[in-house]
Amino acid sequence: MALAEPSSSGRFGEFGGRYVPETLVPACLELERAFRSAWGDPSFRNELDGLLADYAGRPSPLTECHRLSEELGVRVLLKREDLNHTGSHKINNVLGQALLAKRMGKSRLVAETGAGQHGVASATAAALMGMECMVYMGEVDIQRQALNVFRMKLLGAEVVPALSGSRTLKDAVNEAMRDWVATVETTHYCLGSVMGPHPYPWMVREFHTVIGLEAREQCEKLLDGAVPDIVTACVGGGSNAIGIFSGFADTDAELVGVEPAGGAAVGRGVPGVVHGMKSYLMQDEFGQVQEAHSISAGLDYPGVGPEHSFLSSIGRARYEAVTDEQVIDAFQLLSRTEGIIPALEPAHALAWISRDREKLAGKTVLLNMSGRGDKDVGQMMEILG
Ligand SMILES: *Cc1c(COP(=O)(O)O)cnc(C)c1O
Repeated sequence: MALAEPSSSGRFGEFGGRYVPETLVPACLELERAFRSAWGDPSFRNELDGLLADYAGRPSPLTECHRLSEELGVRVLLKREDLNHTGSHKINNVLGQALLAKRMGKSRLVAETGAGQHGVASATAAALMGMECMVYMGEVDIQRQALNVFRMKLLGAEVVPALSGSRTLKDAVNEAMRDWVATVETTHYCLGSVMGPHPYPWMVREFHTVIGLEAREQCEKLLDGAVPDIVTACVGGGSNAIGIFSGFADTDAELVGVEPAGGAAVGRGVPGVVHGMKSYLMQDEFGQVQEAHSISAGLDYPGVGPEHSFLSSIGRARYEAVTDEQVIDAFQLLSRTEGIIPALEPAHALAWISRDREKLAGKTVLLNMSGRGDKDVGQMMEILG
């Protein structure tokens, strides 16, 4: 089965939907219409492909890890999204959304950000296209991520502190939505993962299918027409994972998402509604959304995109959780064996391979290397001394 379009109400099985206030419904409908028309328009697709090639640096390579594979007894292939401009897969989505916003006649982007990576990517796309950009960021995160705040300002964006609630990512999403409702004539909300109300989970997935399409072709070339036994990726909201899964959903490759133990929405969550979607969600015994905790700020999200909840519920994908200690080991392992310093997020997927290497012995595993580790080196220097 290839990954399907959601139903007309934006559902993947029972998950997804569009749980937004009346005032936001027209904006979601306008966006869905505009995306459907753009995605079917060869001139839009050509323009986006051009940007992905000449600005972002696609196609990203596939790297076979000889020394790592020997050490683990598992054949590991990496899809190198870490080599994209701005250092991660996020550029695929923001270039798509910024181009769509221009086509819709909008002159301003708003975005939410947690660790700052999506904020930086959005500010980058806005600078490229001459658009205004405002990034909502929890006040707590602004203090923790000073370097990314400065980057966004260099790129010409305004960073606005979200002062409500726990003053972290989930509050930044709420404030960005509030801004969008009030300014929808001129503004597009550039959401950073496969979450939120319909059409976002579907649209953001489509902008990331390029990862899976390229990887499928690259794997078939390397493996004489075969596909890997397993395709794996880390899961925060789930955009890099769904991007690579999309290229292999119609094969018998096993699909494995890896979550942080302190933010295992699929593994430990229960169905609930947050940020306009129904999905698995970490909640306390009173149904309050719980804070996620992970060594990697990019995976600190208590929910997960609805399509992952669906893929888990039908058994097409499964989800594993790893601890911070296992991630720290994996971060060093890849650096030492392959000369590739990974971001802490994809180090989660490697941590799972390394932990379960006896079960995986002899298999070929494709891992989506969603980002590079430059942003995490300071934090790791403090931890490792
Ligand atoms: C933001 C980020 C993630 C988490 O987002 P997903 O939507 O789950 O992909 C993962 N890896 C990197 C490098 C990131 O910057």
